[in-house]
Amino acid sequence: MGLPRTIEHQPGFATLQLHAGERADGPVNPRATPIYLTAGFVLDDFDVATDLFRTGDGYSYTRVSNPTSQAVEQRVAAMERGAEALLVSSGQAAVTIAVLGLLSAGQHIVSASSIYEGTRGLFLENLSRLGIETDFVEDANDPLEWERAIRPTTRALFAESIPNPKNDILDIAAVAAVAHAHGIPLIVDNTLATPYLLRPIEHGADIVVHSASKFLAGHGAVLGGVIVDNGEFDAERSGALFPHLVEAGRLGSPSFVERAGTRARMAYLRDVVAMRFGPTPSPLNAFLINQGIETLSLRVQRQSENALGVARWLEAQPEVHSVDYSGLESNPFNSVARRYLPDGQGSVFSFTLRGGLDAARRFVNALSVFTHMTHLGDVRSLILHPGTTSHNQRTENELSQAGIWPGTLRVSIGIEDLADLINDLDQGLEAVRTEAL
Ligand SMILES: *Cc1c(COP(=O)(O)O)cnc(C)c1O
Repeated sequence: MGLPRTIEHQPGFATLQLHAGERADGPVNPRATPIYLTAGFVLDDFDVATDLFRTGDGYSYTRVSNPTSQAVEQRVAAMERGAEALLVSSGQAAVTIAVLGLLSAGQHIVSASSIYEGTRGLFLENLSRLGIETDFVEDANDPLEWERAIRPTTRALFAESIPNPKNDILDIAAVAAVAHAHGIPLIVDNTLATPYLLRPIEHGADIVVHSASKFLAGHGAVLGGVIVDNGEFDAERSGALFPHLVEAGRLGSPSFVERAGTRARMAYLRDVVAMRFGPTPSPLNAFLINQGIETLSLRVQRQSENALGVARWLEAQPEVHSVDYSGLESNPFNSVARRYLPDGQGSVFSFTLRGGLDAARRFVNALSVFTHMTHLGDVRSLILHPGTTSHNQRTENELSQAGIWPGTLRVSIGIEDLADLINDLDQGLEAVRTEAL
């Protein structure tokens, strides 16, 4: 849609982020995607309504579908090289809906342990109450650990492409191979990498989720989430594991596989899970996410360059004990990063001050360019002390396993001038040094 498609020419990423999902609506043709801020849509006449409810083609109610949200869905699906995408109201909703589309009570997830705290809490405290259990794998790049955790009831593997704060980059192909040997999908949260740096589906992931609140939007003005499916559900291989996709509907209606073929997972997510649980995004937010996406590649390029500059500078400072950035040659994940992230290693990482909690407090309080807040992927640089904020629900032992020490600070690097970022961080170190005297 909106893109000239010839067989021999595949548009590049920057072109896709601007033009994929564009709409040409008819006599009025606005250049920007219009904001269809409406709860529902007029049903032209009696027979149109009957047809619409029978086929699902057309617009009835915004919780079912909305043209502004669809524009984002088509754009993100194209950028991730997926078949289809679904826009929801937040990243947490994206993870929840993706999981509820696959699993029911009595079933099991295997997840990397190095994941976003909100997702870890969802698995441990919410899904567990619905009878869905999760086991965590310590070393996500060890296929044997995944293999050992899989049970007959396991229906999905879950991991993040760039986890934070440790930046322990995922070997997606290795984990995907384990999932596929069991006929189950690998879900990858690609929030921190963005499809500009990494497209997990190209490496074997089946489903990709995003917090669009972060890099996709980039402006930090709205929340949103996206689920992308590769559209390759194999009913012959996996139908018995996912009976809700192959069995006829309540009134004998065709199954999701009969209706949508290899795209059955997404059809079920849309028509049953998202529509009923109802995490519908506002079309206004969808518009704002679309505006952000149009500059994604430029921002992420600059943020990755700035992040590498900041990481190199920090690594050379005597007050800094360690820097967890996979772009540094000294980092244990540098070789995985070279393979999966050749165009930049992202801009969210952590570093640890030798002076512990006290140094961290003085450092944060001395900054003026960095914003002190719990958010990521903003055009502005952000800083947070995970141990006392986002990760305060973890035990001492769980914290150190996650690579979080009293002196650990997480940064999300923005698009400011690198010299100003370094100057600001130098103010932080100055405050640490002064007090240490
Ligand atoms: C922020 C984040 C989420 C949750 O997204 P929200 O939009 O805040 O609900 C999920 N995963 C990762 C990796 C995130 O950074």
